Amino acid sequence: MSWFKRKDKKIEESTNKKDLPSDLWIKGTCCGEILYKPELEKANSICHHCNFHYPISSDRYLKIILDSDYKELFDNIVSTDILNFKANKSYQDILDNVPNNKEAANCYYGSIDGNKVVLSIMDFKFIGGSMGSAVGEKIAKSVDFAIEKNCPLIIICQSGGARMQEGALSLMQLSKISARLANFSKKGGLYISLLTYPTTGGVTASFGMQADITIAEPKALIGFAGQRVIKQTTSQDLPEGFQTSEFLMEKGFIDVIVDRNTLKSKLINILSLLK
Ligand SMILES: [Zn+2]
Repeated sequence: MSWFKRKDKKIEESTNKKDLPSDLWIKGTCCGEILYKPELEKANSICHHCNFHYPISSDRYLKIILDSDYKELFDNIVSTDILNFKANKSYQDILDNVPNNKEAANCYYGSIDGNKVVLSIMDFKFIGGSMGSAVGEKIAKSVDFAIEKNCPLIIICQSGGARMQEGALSLMQLSKISARLANFSKKGGLYISLLTYPTTGGVTASFGMQADITIAEPKALIGFAGQRVIKQTTSQDLPEGFQTSEFLMEKGFIDVIVDRNTLKSKLINILSLLK
């Protein structure tokens, strides 16, 4: 194989490879394209190659949707380790180390282009947006507050499901919120839910799917059980696009898919039509 060897040692290999600073560039988990982080952030965390909407924090949704004159509601309600739960990590340790002081659901009273609304936003960064007692209580109180103020209610869902560290207390939140929503509906209230990546488990099984108008972001993962579990249980191959916004809209579970960049104007349209 000696004829493949470079004999002239003076020739330098030319290379255009540059080390990409890892804090500025990421390989998109959506389509595998390289994404420039500041650009992605500027584009509301939407991949410009495939239109995948990356999860964003409750603070960012707040800025996208509400006019500046909002106030936060029920921020005195916080998660506590009522069962003294310990697995490989204690629940209290997890709560103490959550990156910001927000909850997995944050609630606001404000306006969208002058239309008064109550807005509750889930946040995946807080223990996977899981629904514990504090989340349930804040959302249930939001529903009551919307009744009191006689204004529409919007809930942005982003959740891995029930919070296992709170056991049955977490599951009780599903029926608690559902009962309040039934009351809200009886009184003629308008409830809009926005399903984002990911909306799964108990949230899908309750208030995520109980709205008058159900909106989803493009390509969001929306489902109850995980795909692997469903596949094993049914012993069947799952159809293409299973548990995506587009698939669920085709099957009638979702009314409209809305791009994050036009979310506010779409909400203004809906509110002015149905308020
Ligand atoms: Zn992409």
